[in-house]
Amino acid sequence: MKKKILYFFSDTGGGHRSAAAAIMAAVSHLSKEKYTQEMIDVFAECSGFLNVFARLYGPVIKYSPRLWGQLYYWLDDEKKLEQLERISRPFILAELKKLIDLRRPDLIVSVHPMVNHLTVKAIRESGRRVPFIVAITDPVTLHRAWIAPEADRVVVATPEAKQLAVKYGMPEKKIKVIGMPIDPKFFLKDKDKQSARKRSRLAPGRFTILMMGGGEGAGKMNDIIKEFEKKKFDGQLIVITGRNRQLEARLKKQAGQYSFPMRVFGFTNQVHELMAESDLIITKAGPGTIAEALAMNLPIIITAWLPGQEEGNVEFVVRENVGRVSRDPERVVELVQELRSTDEFEELKNNIKRVGRPDAALGIAREIFSFL
Ligand code: UDP
Repeated sequence: MKKKILYFFSDTGGGHRSAAAAIMAAVSHLSKEKYTQEMIDVFAECSGFLNVFARLYGPVIKYSPRLWGQLYYWLDDEKKLEQLERISRPFILAELKKLIDLRRPDLIVSVHPMVNHLTVKAIRESGRRVPFIVAITDPVTLHRAWIAPEADRVVVATPEAKQLAVKYGMPEKKIKVIGMPIDPKFFLKDKDKQSARKRSRLAPGRFTILMMGGGEGAGKMNDIIKEFEKKKFDGQLIVITGRNRQLEARLKKQAGQYSFPMRVFGFTNQVHELMAESDLIITKAGPGTIAEALAMNLPIIITAWLPGQEEGNVEFVVRENVGRVSRDPERVVELVQELRSTDEFEELKNNIKRVGRPDAALGIAREIFSFL
């Protein structure tokens, strides 16, 4: 009989869903016939009440990233997390246990910080022996909420993340540094940019920039686009607005007015294709997007980040010299021009080859197999 793996995530942003999907794709890639796999949006499925809070992530990070930062730091405290767990327990624990009893998983993987303590408890109360693996999707700056010392294995992306996990009480022998899980389709992708552009009716020879703001379409994309127009940009833009429908509608309306070609997408499952067509990415410092861009050998310009949660990602991009950072739209466009006119661009690409871990999801899949 096939073994069953459940993936616990929540649709806050796009990163957690992408990470779960990436590991599932890697498991299928290596050994499809042996496993059934299912993604569980834990709050949506087990607690309508807590799901209301999860749904707030999108509007909060778009309209008040500072508020997100305050909440992030306020909660980065063992006592407060304990209290939060105590408050949320009545709304979710019984349902979580019921889910485990009904679905009878052989293993659970979590890619979300807010469910790990509760999952450990629910497994214990179910009386079943279900190995529990946590894949941490914050590659550098780690929130305490991720850490549930009773989990069987924690997978992190960098040695810094490991150090923090140990500091927050995770037994060192349970931690493995493997990398951010990204879908194998990103590194299996054919990287011939010119023919990829031709296929999607973009000018094959023009310098192509991809602009993204994570799953929610956050950041000052519109201001940056206007700056490109002011500076008479001679390339072309691909813009992914994610779930930000307002921005999608506005940019689609404006697209024909610019002197450069611009293609606008709402939430798409073609990010790997669009990255393959691009030379450089301008983005919020989302860990998923950064890891994918590194796998596709795209230098990165970071224009926005969530206080606390994504600051480590910004430091990483600077320290490893795989991109540049500026919140100022005018400077962002200058940075593009500077990079294009010097050897720096090739230097960034060489650094990317060194630090990217495109096949991390396969490593995590192998880790899963070792518990089954
Ligand atoms: N993404 C996607 N389609 C879109 C926009 C984003 O599949 O239209 C994916 C993107 O490829 C990445 C994830 O959503 O895997 C965004 O994750 P990230 O960690 O960068 O930011 P978050 O959205 O979690 O804040």
